Amino acid sequence: SVLDQVLATRILDVLDYPKPGIVFKDITPLLGDPTAFGTVVGAMAEQVRASGATRIAGLEARGFLLAAPVALAAGVGFVPVRKAGKLPRATYREDYALEYATATIEVHRDAFVPGERVMIVDDILATGGTAVAAAKLVRDAGAVPVGLSVLMELGFLGGRERFAASAPDIGIHTL
Ligand code: IMP
Repeated sequence: SVLDQVLATRILDVLDYPKPGIVFKDITPLLGDPTAFGTVVGAMAEQVRASGATRIAGLEARGFLLAAPVALAAGVGFVPVRKAGKLPRATYREDYALEYATATIEVHRDAFVPGERVMIVDDILATGGTAVAAAKLVRDAGAVPVGLSVLMELGFLGGRERFAASAPDIGIHTL
């Protein structure tokens, strides 16, 4: 399909970035090609419509690049889930473990209408730590995470299993 072709040709593997032994997925060619970008945004927006979500939670930073156009295409609002210290008003915070450190993400306390359905959007599901923390934040803020939509899963890192163990009721949609 057009979508498969776009994903196969517009996402590049960069060896040894940012560290030796890491294969980094570079989505900048996808973003730079309006046909490819539009195909991906359209496919994600269709998942949003099918899920009945009324809001998109986009994860900083690459998740923003997808989540904002997907929200507009689906006709729903966009909520930024940001790294610690970036949001100006009262927030909920969630700490999670990285390989050698911890990270913190935040969302505004009044970001969601209570009980509304939310699709979480990011570029990549790797270990799943970020997605698990984001789902927790959406719940803390009084909304219902109904799906996780990503371009890619790095399957060997086990993110799908980790996310499913923590949130078995949330569907994972991977292009
Ligand atoms: P996780 O928390 O380990 O699942 O990591 C997911 C986050 O790391 C996502 O927000 C991605 O943007 C980022 N990430 C992990 N691996 C890559 C990669 O190979 N390319 C680009 N981003 C990555």
